[in-house]
Parts: sequence; structure tokens; C-alpha cells
Amino acid sequence: MDAEQLREYGHQMVDFIADYYKNIESFPVRSQVQPGYLRELLPDSAPVRPESLQDVLDDIQSKILPGVTHWQSPEFFAYFPSNSSVAGFLGEMLSAGINMVGFSWITSPAATELEMIVLDWLAKALKLPDQFLSTGQGGGVIQGTASEAVLVVLLAARDQVLRRVGKDATGRLVVYCSDQTHSALQKACKIAGIYPENFRLLKTDSSTDYALSPESLSEAISRDIASGLIPFFFCATVGTTSSTAVDPLTELGKISNSNGLWFHIDAAYAGSACICPEFRHYIHGVEGANSFNMNAHKWFLTNFDCSALWVKDRSALVQSLSTNPEFLKNKASQDNKVVDYKDWQIPLGRRFSYVARRSLKLWMVLRLYGLENLQAYIRNHIELARKFEELVNLDSRFEVAAPRRFSLVCFRLVSARNDVEHANQLNRELLEAVNSTGNLFISHTVLSDKYVLRFAVGAPLTEERHVLEAWKTLQEKAALLLSELKE
Ligand code: PLP
Repeated sequence: MDAEQLREYGHQMVDFIADYYKNIESFPVRSQVQPGYLRELLPDSAPVRPESLQDVLDDIQSKILPGVTHWQSPEFFAYFPSNSSVAGFLGEMLSAGINMVGFSWITSPAATELEMIVLDWLAKALKLPDQFLSTGQGGGVIQGTASEAVLVVLLAARDQVLRRVGKDATGRLVVYCSDQTHSALQKACKIAGIYPENFRLLKTDSSTDYALSPESLSEAISRDIASGLIPFFFCATVGTTSSTAVDPLTELGKISNSNGLWFHIDAAYAGSACICPEFRHYIHGVEGANSFNMNAHKWFLTNFDCSALWVKDRSALVQSLSTNPEFLKNKASQDNKVVDYKDWQIPLGRRFSYVARRSLKLWMVLRLYGLENLQAYIRNHIELARKFEELVNLDSRFEVAAPRRFSLVCFRLVSARNDVEHANQLNRELLEAVNSTGNLFISHTVLSDKYVLRFAVGAPLTEERHVLEAWKTLQEKAALLLSELKE
């Protein structure tokens, strides 16, 4: 790498990105292009001769940005947030610059040691039990996504139980979760070879606000044991994707523990809020868990990707995922003095350098913000969501469709007709109408067969005025739809 060229191009690129953020409100939040739009704009093959950075930047401005959905826009309220910040960006930049490769401790000691320290810091901020700290038998590791996190613990749990009951028992292993659990677990089960008929999606409904009832888990486990199956893994969620339901961890944990199941907690989105003392109670019961996961790349100002996973017993992960080829052998590893994160994760080559990349940016976020500012950041979003909920409640044409706990409001337009499908269609049309304006972007879910709109506050640039403007667009489009239907 030519240092002077890096300086020149780097300044140019930082200016480009800074201008992007300055003008971000001028773009339609959801990209409005049609499928295949880019093929018509770009050449068929790569250039033979080098082009200038300015030419590339011009193309990004005119051809790429129209096809971008602006997740960092202050009017982005869809899905869950995926935060970026100056601190996170600088951390990414630094690690891309140093480009170290940290799969085993020896390949870059700072990479492994920083990751262990930063995850201990975050575990303490969340007040996780000491067993999750790297100073004991457990510890934290940064995965790319919550999907990878649940996969690695599922593999560890599967191998642990198979060591006990024998390899031939794979077809009898059973996994439990609620019907609100993220589909990442189902995918993990497919990869881990769990038989599809042994994947139990336990039913929830509005009577428990879509949280899993302990009775339902307990009954399912008893039924399966009675038919000769082997329950071995249960995943609870704190902040489900559809409606931010919170499963009752303490009771569910007791049932898991007494039946010898691995108990995993997925707090991918809501975990961030638990650094605030007033929201920490949502993970009360984490003491009973074998593993706990939250995505710092969702709502913790850390650029994608950065998913923090803690386990109480790291040896279960290592036993499942360790490989030890000759070319990676070294004294530090063989003397068992160090952590080799390659044995805590799925990828080998491609993601090696990411280990350091992710901990560096999380470290930068924690240091440049400090816990106090991170707490204020979370509280502000929750307060903005509360205001939005208040606005919905004040307008009799709408209803709140599930209790709001964090920064997500589930709501819907109510139809005068007593017809579920008609009401669903009305809300589908409202969603498309508001998203087509480009003024805001919201997403949807289905709860108890009802099509529900989701308004998730969490973009770092969102202020009260953005929430008010979004609500105005929603009201205008709703009025138009209702008048067309003469409702
Ligand atoms: N778990 C929950 C509760 C989620 O909301 C999501 C994504 O939104 C995931 C898991 C999957 O996250 P990832 O994309 O990091 O795999």
C-alpha cells in the first residue's frame, strides 16, 4: 500500500462519506429502483486499464446510491436498526488499515486479548453473571451475526449431548423455541442435522403478549421424553423480531436446567437496552442460561457486523469446533495458555481478520461514547417510540397492536368492516403507500393473523421532528385510503 496515495484517496473518500451523511435526508429512504436496474447502467466486463477514484465516486453518486436503501437515514423505521457511528466507522477504518489476521492468539495477540477484554467490559455493563467472564470457565466471542451465534452454541450443545447418549441418537434430539423465535434457529437446526420433525415451534398468542408460557415448554418436553426423544436445546428471546415480546427467562430457565437442556438467550436487538439499569430486569433470569447473545451492530452504535456471544462453558464450544492442523500448531496454543478464537466460530480463512476488526470498533464505541452516553442514546430512542405510540393512541383510526417495551411500536389501521382480510389488505396498501413516498421506511409483521405495521426507532440521526413527520405522512396516506374506500 502506498502511504501517500492512501492519504490522498482516504481524504477524498472521507469527504464523500461526510457529504453523504450531510445530505442523507434528500434521498428516498427505501430505494425506489426496479429489479435489474444496475445491469443497464454498468459495463458488461471489468476495465482493462485503471480508472480514477473520481470516476468511481461519480458512479457511486449517480448509479449506486439510487439503489441504496438508507439504513442510516433518520426516517428509517423498518425492521430493527443497524447503527453506524463515527466511532464504529473509525474502528473499521483502523482495522482495515492494519489488516491483521487473528485466528489464533499467536497470529496477533492483541486481537484475541482485546476481544476478551472488550467482551468482559460489555458483560459487566449488562451485569451478566461472572460465569460469562473470560476470567473463569466461560467468556465472550464476537460472531458475525446472531444466526452464527445460535448455530455455534447449537453445535456445542448437540455434540455435548451426543457424547453422553451416543452418536446414533441424532434423530432423537429435540430443539424448542416459540413461534416468535427468529428463523435463524430453524436454519441452524437444518445445518446441525436436527430432524425437521424434532424442531418444536411452541405456540404463543396475545394472551401472553406473544411470550412463551413455561407450561407450554414443560408439557412439550414431558411429551417428548415420554415418546423416547431427547430434548437438548431451548432458545428464549428477549425482544422478539415481530413485536419485542420477552420470554419469562427465570421460569423457562428452571425448566431447561432441570431437564438438562442447553438454554440459549437471543437478545439480538433488545440486549443493548439492558445496559440501562431501568431495563436490566428484562434479562433477569440470565443466570440460568448457558449462552447469551446480543447484536452490537443493531442498536449499539457499532457498524455491521458485530454480534456478541457469551458462554458459561467455553470448553463445550471448543470441543465442538476445534480443528488442529499441523500448519497452525504453535507453542502458546499447545501449552494451553491462550484462547484461539478459531475454535469458537464457524469460519476459518475468510473471517480471520474480522476478529480484530470487530473488537476494535466495539472498543472504540465503548471508549468514545462511554456507558453514560450509550445509555442516554437508548433512552432517547425509547422515549421517541413512546411519543409515537401516544400519537397512534390519540387517533381513533389506528390501534396499537402489541405492548411497546423498547423502541418498536406495532400498530395498524382499523377497518370499519368486521373483516380480517379486508383490514389486512388496508394495512398492506398503507405500508406500500407510505414507503413509496420515500419520506420514511417502515416494515410489517403478522400477529394472530393480523397484518401489523412496525415502527422501530433506532437510527442514530433520528430526532423528534422525524417521528412527527413520519406520523404526518402515515396519517395523510391513511386518510386518502379510507376516503377512497369510503370508510
Ligand atoms: N434474533 C432476533 C431477535 C432478531 O431480531 C434478528 C434479526 O433481526 C436475529 C436474531 C438475526 O440477526 P442476524 O442478522 O444478526 O443473524
